[in-house]
Amino acid sequence: MKNKANVVIIGGGVVGCSIAYNLAKKGVKDVVLLEKSYLSSGATGRCGAGVRQQWGTKQNCLLASESMHIFEHFEDVLQIKRDIELKQKGYLLLAYSDKELEQFKKNIEVQHSLNIPSILLTPKEAKEIVPDLNIEKLVGAAYCAKDGHANPFQVTLGYAEAAQRLGVEINKFTEVKDIITKNDTVLGVQTNKGFIECKKVVVAVGGWTQNIVKMAGIDLPIYSERHEILVTESVKNILDPMLMSFSYNIYCQQEPNGSFIMGYGPENEPPSYNMESSWEFLETMSKKATWLLPPLKNIRVIRQWAGLYNISPDRQPIVSQINQVEGLYVACGFSGHGFMLAPAVGILMADIVTGDQLTYNVILDLERFNRGEIIEEPSVV
Ligand code: FAD
Repeated sequence: MKNKANVVIIGGGVVGCSIAYNLAKKGVKDVVLLEKSYLSSGATGRCGAGVRQQWGTKQNCLLASESMHIFEHFEDVLQIKRDIELKQKGYLLLAYSDKELEQFKKNIEVQHSLNIPSILLTPKEAKEIVPDLNIEKLVGAAYCAKDGHANPFQVTLGYAEAAQRLGVEINKFTEVKDIITKNDTVLGVQTNKGFIECKKVVVAVGGWTQNIVKMAGIDLPIYSERHEILVTESVKNILDPMLMSFSYNIYCQQEPNGSFIMGYGPENEPPSYNMESSWEFLETMSKKATWLLPPLKNIRVIRQWAGLYNISPDRQPIVSQINQVEGLYVACGFSGHGFMLAPAVGILMADIVTGDQLTYNVILDLERFNRGEIIEEPSVV
């Protein structure tokens, strides 16, 4: 392991690996990435894998559509051979009240301003796309045929491979124990395998961000929350698009191999770092899923697990330098959508670290909360 670097990235999830690749692509030398376990061992390897462009704020739509473009051309952009298993079979967002449908209409207007091909559907039209969908109580739906899902392990490993090819050093099973600063300036990081001297540290540790930035004396307005998820046995294909409802609180997709992956946001659960699975989730998930898709009755669950969402006050990512500590940067607060935004976020963070003009016209800096420039994202589970 190097003992001196230009930039140290902490965290080997999809975000850290995308940042590493994009820094190296810009010509930054001596970039070192540190991951305490294996690549994708955090939220990335535990996520629902959904990639959608149907957002309610212009900047999320922009970052999601730019990221989708990279997913679509992953091998060409990164100059590697790796199938990320992108399946663009659509996202069907379900509305259960007039208010929710109105919000979808507003969202679609924003999406169309960025050429995202989303449409509004009646319940009958939604049923044409998913014939087994229970449309009782459904008021309408929004649909984008270009949304879908991809394999988060392959995407992360692809970024890591491309970064290494450009000279990035990736150290797995290397845990950062401390960020060393003097006079509010980064001097380096202490790991379980030794000290690395550096002037710039990018924190990309998802749910563990608060603990890591505390090492440099920083407190961020974020918290972490357990999200549970499960996978079923493989059955015949009945669902092409990802199904999602914000008010009924569910997402559900059928993998190409026939397994269903599904989850919902915790109801009344306090912030925590808990990643245990619960019986309650299994029971509630089963009720929710079989009501929405009745043929799922009696399907067998193969495995359940949990991961951490890192939540920001406006449910938008924080991709920012930290003004109080020279040389400290953070990419966190993805609020459940960091996988689908990671390609664009890597580009953005590389711009910030190198001091270049931002590729995307977005406001994701930490100071937005002090300036009161908060644009709340309405479309999250
Ligand atoms: P992580 O993947 O958590 O990576 C952080 C890494 O930092 C970890 O590997 C960890 O081991 C490492 N680390 C921590 N501390 C240290 C240390 N001290 N030293 C070194 N390394 C350290 N997003 C979507 O876009 N679509 C979805 O459908 C979706 N579904 C989700 C479903 C669930 C159940 C969950 C939990 C999340 C979901 N997300 C989804 C969110 C998405 O998974 C995250 O936003 C994204 O993976 C964050 O990536 P990351 O690289 O920032 O964090």
